[in-house]
Amino acid sequence: MEQTHPSAIRPKHSGQKVLFQNPILEKLTRTHIAIPISMYIIFSIGLLYYAFTQAALPAYLIGILFLTGLLVFTLAEYLVHRYVFHLRPDTPAKAKFQYAVHGVHHEYPKDKSRLAMPPILSALIALGLLALTQWAMGEYAYAFLPGFVMGYAGYLFVHYITHAYAPPKNVFKVLWVHHSIHHYKSQDKAFGVSSPLWDYVFGTMP
Ligand SMILES: [Zn+2]
Ligand SMILES: [Zn+2]
Repeated sequence: MEQTHPSAIRPKHSGQKVLFQNPILEKLTRTHIAIPISMYIIFSIGLLYYAFTQAALPAYLIGILFLTGLLVFTLAEYLVHRYVFHLRPDTPAKAKFQYAVHGVHHEYPKDKSRLAMPPILSALIALGLLALTQWAMGEYAYAFLPGFVMGYAGYLFVHYITHAYAPPKNVFKVLWVHHSIHHYKSQDKAFGVSSPLWDYVFGTMP
């Protein structure tokens, strides 16, 4: 399989990349967008329910932690997109990793079945985040993580409408344009998807 740095990839307007010859493995790399979005929303609501009923955290604190989780997600989204998905592929292993996790999306931006991590990976990520936040912040995890996970669901939604639909005539238009600039104009700019906030902060506004 040939790998190229995303900046060298010309986006194709149709078609899909076959990543695995094995049909089962290949199917596991794809998902309908509604599956991970629903998984994350249900997970988030379940955690919030637990925060209110079992962890018995005060409501104001749940609110603050939830909003903090949301904000931290937008930062994580920015950093992962900028430094992991667009890492410099200076070794064949890095190039291969980069292509599989993100280059393929830059080459086939309209392949709707590859706009989110497949469900099994999504579930593993959710459980990994739960373990990590429980370890790092104890009971506060049940209010912080739902904010973070809702941010992730929001990101998936914005990302999907950017690639699957024409520019919307509502509040999402700004985000639609922002991410389209990242794909079709400057791949070293506009790394935020669910918000352009960190592009302002770190000077990568297009
Ligand atoms: Zn990208
Ligand atoms: Zn995209």
